[in-house]
Amino acid sequence: MDLVIRNAISDTDGAPLEVGIQDGRIVAVAPDGLPSGEREIDADGGMLSPALVEPHFHLENALIWEGALNHSGTLEEAIDVYAAIKRDMPIDDIVHRASIALRAAIGHGVQWFRSHIDIDQTGQLRLLQGNLAVRERFREVIDIQLIAFPQMGMTRDPEVIDLMWQAMDQGADVVGGMPHAERDMDDAARHIELAFDMAVAHDADVDMHIDETDDPAWYSLELLAEETIRRGWQGRVTAGHCCAMSAWDDALAERVIGKVAEAQLNVITIAPINLMLQGRGDKHPKRRGIARVKELMAAGVNVSCGQDDLQNMFYSYGNMDPLEVAFVAAHAAHMSAPHEIEAAFNMPRYNAARNFRLDDYGVRAGARANLMVLDAASAVDALRRRSDRRYVIRDGRVLVESRTQTKWNF
Ligand SMILES: [Zn+2]
Repeated sequence: MDLVIRNAISDTDGAPLEVGIQDGRIVAVAPDGLPSGEREIDADGGMLSPALVEPHFHLENALIWEGALNHSGTLEEAIDVYAAIKRDMPIDDIVHRASIALRAAIGHGVQWFRSHIDIDQTGQLRLLQGNLAVRERFREVIDIQLIAFPQMGMTRDPEVIDLMWQAMDQGADVVGGMPHAERDMDDAARHIELAFDMAVAHDADVDMHIDETDDPAWYSLELLAEETIRRGWQGRVTAGHCCAMSAWDDALAERVIGKVAEAQLNVITIAPINLMLQGRGDKHPKRRGIARVKELMAAGVNVSCGQDDLQNMFYSYGNMDPLEVAFVAAHAAHMSAPHEIEAAFNMPRYNAARNFRLDDYGVRAGARANLMVLDAASAVDALRRRSDRRYVIRDGRVLVESRTQTKWNF
């Protein structure tokens, strides 16, 4: 075998674990006793987990901070601030900033990644060109899917519809959308139809920003579920954000969640950004502004979590660590019992992998050897301390090694 990892524990039950890797695949899994490999790693009691999945990010505007401050802190001002600068964003600047973000993500164990690219009159297809260059640069070290994202809407601007088709022709993998950018629910329905036309023509998945607002009058999530069923696209459609459901009454939430489950939509909660941007206009008590994570999970919906933004006009923080995002989501969604902590730990792993429809994900024979050795003894330990990813492994190749060294002088 090319690589044998010893002295690890399982990510699911904490049992002792050894794994053997050959030609980029896991070929042997046992508690102990595997024959020696060409290279050996001592996990030193650390947890061996499949690598992390980042399902929702925006590479092109990561780390735009100086000169692009959002004074009100609202989503509306963030979009305005961004619109003012994206016309002239040099491609090498996109590549530079995105590279910093991706290296940080890989260092935290991320091996699958989705990035939304603004497609509109202002940016035309320039931002796509930047993202394509980034994807090519990182091809050997991370899988990146690009999502064509019409942030300013489609129905009011036929040129954007044309640009979206061109983006799919020129290398975007997934059709994005933002129905609540339209004037009303009728236009939102048209927006969703247009996106599905593109998805069907390209045999592509759909991944939309949905109801990122405190306004309970927006429930385009229901339209997305209905169109998914109509087109037979079950399991291939993702709804990110879904903030308005925090403001809906329970009857509406129950009705829509039922349709979301029927359509097998994947939901991505973006808790850090939603907690920061939503509910800003409320007097106390303030809405939390995040998707109803526990109700969705109880209905059988696949829920994962995403970073969305890194230190920019939308969000001032971020560390490209999906465990940090899951940790914040667990707080926002009141996930504190042991089984809820397990569910939160699975969000950037098995749940997000299901969102990507990865069929070779996991620590088992036959799975792709994209793994991480995490300095953690359990799910709660992993989320609470978010400690070193001692090894990040891609197709059996060790990409990153991390050991934090603390010197105690007492
Ligand atoms: Zn986003």
